[in-house]
Amino acid sequence: VNRLDLILQHVRNVPDFPVQGIVFKDICPILKEPKALAAVIDLFEEHVRQKHPHTELIVGLEARGFLFGPLLAQRLGIGFILVRKKGKLPGPTVSVGYTLEYAKAEAEIQADAVQPGQKVLLIDDLLATGGTLHAACELLKMQKAEILGCLVVIELKDLSGAEKLPVPVFSLLQC
Ligand code: 5GP
Repeated sequence: VNRLDLILQHVRNVPDFPVQGIVFKDICPILKEPKALAAVIDLFEEHVRQKHPHTELIVGLEARGFLFGPLLAQRLGIGFILVRKKGKLPGPTVSVGYTLEYAKAEAEIQADAVQPGQKVLLIDDLLATGGTLHAACELLKMQKAEILGCLVVIELKDLSGAEKLPVPVFSLLQC
């Protein structure tokens, strides 16, 4: 079984979560199966080494970007930093507001997390409308980072989230 099939076999479709009518893509089975998790990190590592060899930081989005991001950063021998929901990070922070489908949210980063000109890649588990990654890109632009791209395990193609983003998206699975 090839690596993408192995990953796909460990994504569970959960009907009517978190609300009626939504089919949630649950990535927990990937984390439970070491071979599937290794396939995710291997494929991301190969992509970054080929396309973005000068990446200096991996930026993980709360919460599931935290599951894959540090593993990838360790493989690459580079650092990992966090974009969180407002109020979770200590110290001077910078935040940006954005609108989700049903609610408003604020994304936040520590002011000293990234230096101007540093080359970064963002990572999350899934791209839907692109609102979350877009907000994170806005934050990193405010900090004058050089954003090279976004990495996601799953891209929901019908929602065209990639079109909203200022940088290319690399996805392992397109659903
Ligand atoms: P967007 O902002 O692109 O509309 O939504 C993406 C964000 O919502 C990501 O942070 C992602 O973790 C979460 N998300 C939305 N739908 C799903 C889903 O079906 N499965 C998973 N695992 N995450 C989702």
